[in-house]
Amino acid sequence: GRVVIPIKRHGIRREQLPSFALKVTDRLQEAGFEAFVVGGAVRDLLLGKVPKDFDVATNATPEEVNKLFRRSRIIGRRFRLVHVLFGEEVVEVSTFRGGGEAMTDDSGRIIRDNAWGSQEDDAKRRDFTVNALFYDPSREEIIDYHGGVADIEKKRLVMIGPPAQRYREDPVRMLRAVRLAAKLGLTIDPVTRRPIREHADLLANVPASRLFDEMLKLLFSGQSWACLCQLREDNLHHGFFPLLDKMFEAPSGATFLRMALENTDARVRADKPVSAGYVFAALLWLEVLDNWARRKTAGEKPMPALFSAIDEVEAVQEEKLAIPRRYGTAMKEIWMLQPRFEQRSGAKPFKLLEHPRFRAGYDFLCLRAGAGEIEQELADWWTRFQDVSGAEREAMLLRPA
Ligand code: ATP
Ligand code: MG
Repeated sequence: GRVVIPIKRHGIRREQLPSFALKVTDRLQEAGFEAFVVGGAVRDLLLGKVPKDFDVATNATPEEVNKLFRRSRIIGRRFRLVHVLFGEEVVEVSTFRGGGEAMTDDSGRIIRDNAWGSQEDDAKRRDFTVNALFYDPSREEIIDYHGGVADIEKKRLVMIGPPAQRYREDPVRMLRAVRLAAKLGLTIDPVTRRPIREHADLLANVPASRLFDEMLKLLFSGQSWACLCQLREDNLHHGFFPLLDKMFEAPSGATFLRMALENTDARVRADKPVSAGYVFAALLWLEVLDNWARRKTAGEKPMPALFSAIDEVEAVQEEKLAIPRRYGTAMKEIWMLQPRFEQRSGAKPFKLLEHPRFRAGYDFLCLRAGAGEIEQELADWWTRFQDVSGAEREAMLLRPA
């Protein structure tokens, strides 16, 4: 049922919301509609975290919303919603939606294309109880249909409805459970968690682009190492990281991955930029290295062998989940720079310094050294080489072998 939670219980004041979000709910309410901040933002505020985006739910249709805001546009095909723009900020406004069934009249004719529902319907189609809270900024009240506020207090992530069914409806919810629990410091409720293992294979049916988006969210959650370990424990990684098992099993594999991801997590938490290309380069590097070594042993020349190894690793990965070109290009450049760091005589080190991707390549070199995959001495040499003057650089060069 519908439970109204007053401010003295939840503590979220209107002023804690940014003005652009309040403008949206205020204007909708002035026009006679219901309007609430909903989902991740309410959850994050209750947890004392800073929300990264603000979604609004309303009983106004997309057309009605669109008419109220000059800088807005209707987006989406199957589920239309409205983006309202305020400078750099975007507020996503969605109309309350029903379950999945089309609404029909007495004769069974479809009167609405499965779309709109009540606030209660809208709460029910959301994934977790903590994600189904509605905050009314003018009354400073939270509307809670599924005990989400109590679950936040108990630090529990609980699925709304029968978990197995909800995973079948949308397998991405399994990944969301893992990611949100790690990111928010919640425990996945045992009943919510239990069906995950046996439903893991369903991820194979999810469109690659959606899987990839979720993967990026996971890698940039600030808890990517914890997420990846959990994914592996629940067997969820097969659908998109077929090579992960091998990496964990390789002697130095787990160390390498842990270092790479903990490094990423620290940067994310410090609000420093992290490139997806770099993270993917780290995730797949040991596989490239292994393939490359086999080819060299078989007599292939080093550079062509590296190129072929990269192509092969990419092909295996692509079968499950292709890495979009904009990240793939950076990833491959980082890999291809690695052998060039070994050349420390003549003009080559100076050329390498000028390479547009030098910084990423060097960071990656340091990661490899830190994980014990290569000599620390090589990374230190490059650290120093960047620091010193031109004359000192000349003096640092090794003699050609
Ligand atoms: P994040 O902090 O990653 O943004 P979020 O919960 O806000 O977490 P969004 O993808 O922004 O995630 O989704 C907004 C809201 O939409 C969620 O809080 C949830 O209520 C609902 N939602 C998102 N994905 C699903 C899904 N797969 N199934 C059901 N509801 C979902
Ligand atoms: Mg969100």
